[in-house]
Amino acid sequence: MTSPALPDYAPIPRSSLGPALNDQGYYVGRVERNLYWITDGVYQSAFLTTRDGVVLFDAPPTIGHNLQRAIDEIAAANGVSNQVTHLVYSHHHDDHAGAASLFDRNVVRVGHEETRRLLLRDNDPARPAPEVTFADRYTLEVAGERAELVWHGPNHSPDNIFIHFPGHDTLMLIDVVNAGWVPIYNLNLSEDVPGYIQAPATALSYPWTHFICGHLGRLATRDDVSVHQQYIADIEASAREALATVDPTPFYMRYGENPWAGVKAGLRPTSTPSPSARPRPSSPSTPACWPPPTSRFSPPPPPPPRSPSCSRCASTAGPADQSTPDHNAPGPASAGPGAGRMSGRQHWAAPGVGAPALKEKITATARRASRRDRPRRVNGSEEGTP
Ligand SMILES: [Zn+2]
Repeated sequence: MTSPALPDYAPIPRSSLGPALNDQGYYVGRVERNLYWITDGVYQSAFLTTRDGVVLFDAPPTIGHNLQRAIDEIAAANGVSNQVTHLVYSHHHDDHAGAASLFDRNVVRVGHEETRRLLLRDNDPARPAPEVTFADRYTLEVAGERAELVWHGPNHSPDNIFIHFPGHDTLMLIDVVNAGWVPIYNLNLSEDVPGYIQAPATALSYPWTHFICGHLGRLATRDDVSVHQQYIADIEASAREALATVDPTPFYMRYGENPWAGVKAGLRPTSTPSPSARPRPSSPSTPACWPPPTSRFSPPPPPPPRSPSCSRCASTAGPADQSTPDHNAPGPASAGPGAGRMSGRQHWAAPGVGAPALKEKITATARRASRRDRPRRVNGSEEGTP
């Protein structure tokens, strides 16, 4: 049987992958001594075996009943109890806690006080609220084995905690760093971005060798956390630069009554010329058809000269300039899908045009662009659609 075709993607480096799963779809391995981790390739959980029973950390529903199978496997191999006596929540999210109800009613559930509040709010039978809660710090000790649960403030979620195993050289922090992978969807869907950005540095302030990150197929190292920090720092620097230099207003104005289209165009790099392709406003041969990089709070760039021979310029009020910009020349984006749009920008910035007239011209240009972009019918099918 051949596999169905997958979308194109770059080859996955071997270093991003973990051990193979067994026939039941999970892998269980030792982290250190009696601390183990389980993965289904996408989610991770962990457990400590003790002489009094098992302490489980997170219960992802995708692993589900394989959690107990993995515990049974390890307990049988080591001759210890397979009874889960404690369940610790890293945070309240369903994808890490949704199998909590699979465990005995008498299990002691431990979590941050905000986790309890949110789970009571959610009222989800799959995720019973923890009865043992804490505000900042809690030492969980079971049969001489210790886990330090610490809340350092909101990051990925308001209640996400750091779980340090001082006797096992391990830290567990869920949904911040993905070992060998970039974060998914807007920094792992994090609710507090500054807290999310800070969390890896807090993680690195603990002594540990092994890092249980909650996702994907392998454990993380300190180097993984450092690479993650560099990646996020790069994004942050680029975002700060873009915020300081890209003026979204022309996009908002261009799309008129459809603000989300303006936002999309302003965020989509392919719709803007590269800085090097932007004409310099001071050059007589290249009129300013694109605002130079300025702060969004800066005044607009100087307008280009008007052409007395151009019918579009002639229809605008204001004194004519004797120089003659080439309004029909393709803009710098002529090689790309936005070809021709740039020339319209010369008119948006024409002198003597008040805001209503300017908006009307922008709208007209947007309509023309919209007609140009519309898929054409070719032999009964629309060109450009799959
Ligand atoms: Zn989460």
